[in-house]
Amino acid sequence: MPFWGGNLMCLAVPARIIRLIGKNAVCDFGGVNRRVNIQLMEEIMPGDYVIVHAGYAIEKLSEEEAQQSIRMWNELLKMVDEIKLMHVCGTHEESIARSGIRSLLPKNIKVISGPGCPVCVTTTREVDEAIALGGLDDVIVTSFGDMMLVPGSEGSLMDARANNADVRVVYSASDATELARNNPGKQVVHIAIGFETTAPTTACELMDAPSNFSILCTHRTIPEAMDYLLSSGDCAIDGFIDPGHVSAIIGTIPYKHLSDKYRIPQVVAGFEYLDVLLAIYMLLGLIADESPDVVNEYGRVVREEGNTLALDVIDKVYTKSSVKWRGFPVIPGSGLSLREEYREYDARIKFDITVDKVTEPAGCRCGDVLRGLISPDECPLFETECSPANPVGPCMVSAEGACSIAIKYGEHNA
Ligand code: SF4
Repeated sequence: MPFWGGNLMCLAVPARIIRLIGKNAVCDFGGVNRRVNIQLMEEIMPGDYVIVHAGYAIEKLSEEEAQQSIRMWNELLKMVDEIKLMHVCGTHEESIARSGIRSLLPKNIKVISGPGCPVCVTTTREVDEAIALGGLDDVIVTSFGDMMLVPGSEGSLMDARANNADVRVVYSASDATELARNNPGKQVVHIAIGFETTAPTTACELMDAPSNFSILCTHRTIPEAMDYLLSSGDCAIDGFIDPGHVSAIIGTIPYKHLSDKYRIPQVVAGFEYLDVLLAIYMLLGLIADESPDVVNEYGRVVREEGNTLALDVIDKVYTKSSVKWRGFPVIPGSGLSLREEYREYDARIKFDITVDKVTEPAGCRCGDVLRGLISPDECPLFETECSPANPVGPCMVSAEGACSIAIKYGEHNA
């Protein structure tokens, strides 16, 4: 499918009207038909060309301009062997797989999945620590549901629960602190997992937590992992689709130094398939223009400065630390540890747990999937020994994991 563009500096997508249906029109995006809202347009007819932004036709385009942009894109695509775009968000992966975007792209445009699933990047050691905490007397461990089946060295939190550990699924950190308040004779340890989106919610709870509450802190931050990926050069990345949820908290500024340092374009994207398509289109435009900018496609949610309230809370409770990610070495500054004033809520200190020997799942290639080195179906265990019913690695467990998403939408069979 040819990818269409107007002027390369124009960040909206041209399409040809095929037919009108009330306030909508079926439009041809270079061979792919989509419904577009035309309420903002006057006097348009089948055969007209329009610029589409966020699902709305916003301007008419002459046929000459449209054809010129088609030619420009086709020339660009012929000139390059391969363009590799990476996203770092499980929800983006879900949107891409569900809508079949990869199957619509020219063969030399690859969209690969990076370390965007917080459950998947959690290390086996951290899972072992959670299980060790669940084995202590009078301790209730709380976890988000996705973590329950992630394999540790010897079983999962679900297995621990089957062996009488008190492990409970919660929907938020506030459920966990409430549990602590309702059980003053017990200690409640929450497995605090997630990127910048979840970290402030945990922090809010810690600012007013009961003394019988603590967390196993595994919060991580995304830009440092992107920095590692670019600096390692393992996987030649031509552009990043930046994560919408994380960016709603951190804004667009923390990405800018990556674009400056590595001369790489980035587009912050929302989660609808049109958001992702538009982000890909914008990235291709930036690549064509050799323009290593950070562009915000998700302006309806993401502000340049981010959510300053949430950033203040993060800054108040955590300090940056260097942590290992699954499949990665220790990444400098990519973890969030509790500041001295909140150390009483650090379960590692409170319970002095140690995990001596860590055994990784045999044959699992989650680390390579998370670094964008292989696609899920390139793991020899994919759909054989490893399936959603019998997951070997976390990428098959989590709803945001690339392997479980590939199976759910049959993308590998596309
Ligand atoms: S298919 Fe299973 S074992 Fe292979 S990378 Fe994915 S989760 Fe890991």
